[in-house]
Amino acid sequence: MHRGPMSDSASPGLRILLIEDQHDIAANIWDYLERRGHEMDHCADGVSGLARALRGDVDVIVLDLGLPRLDGLVLCRRLREAGHGVPVLMLTARDTLEDKLRGYAEGADDYLVKPFAMRELEARIHALRRHGQPATTLAFGPLRYDPHDMMAQREGRQIPLTRLQGAILACLLQEAPRVVSHARILASAWGRQGGDVAALQTQVYELRALIDKPFAQPLIQSVRGVGYRLLGAS
Ligand code: CA
Repeated sequence: MHRGPMSDSASPGLRILLIEDQHDIAANIWDYLERRGHEMDHCADGVSGLARALRGDVDVIVLDLGLPRLDGLVLCRRLREAGHGVPVLMLTARDTLEDKLRGYAEGADDYLVKPFAMRELEARIHALRRHGQPATTLAFGPLRYDPHDMMAQREGRQIPLTRLQGAILACLLQEAPRVVSHARILASAWGRQGGDVAALQTQVYELRALIDKPFAQPLIQSVRGVGYRLLGAS
């Protein structure tokens, strides 16, 4: 399969990187999404997929879970560790809660089980792109966050967040209890608009005032010079 050009033209379509080893499935997805006006790029194994993803310039990644050379979950984790916040839609043949949770833990934003309708795939891709955030409620310890209405929840209290606060919290929840680097949070919450660490600190200060200060136990922990993480409350 050839590689399509990835131009910066103001096309209404998205730049989609498809990482899928099954040729027939990849060809179907490529054909459908290209006809729908998206710019497609494709890699058939995990190693070349990760290399391509790390080059950036992609709006959404459609990532198969089972890949030769490098597993989709590992690929996703390495991408996040490198600070890339690009939305990732994971494809899998396995429909178990365990797999979904593992996918989210490694930084996937949404999940689609094979076989799926192409229309649903495209709808999910647009939803991910629109929100720039995961499509499902995230939870860790006493904390929940629903990206659809940008509402956090702690100990029964509903806490509305701004888009930036929500994106930062989603990033921490996805990785919890692991430390998330400043770079990763910045890439995820600010994207190409490019925030900086000072702006991030300001947002985290406000986020703490909302989800930590009113409660007995603080959950957001700073790891000096590295990033932030969420602590599970006892
Ligand atoms: Ca596969």
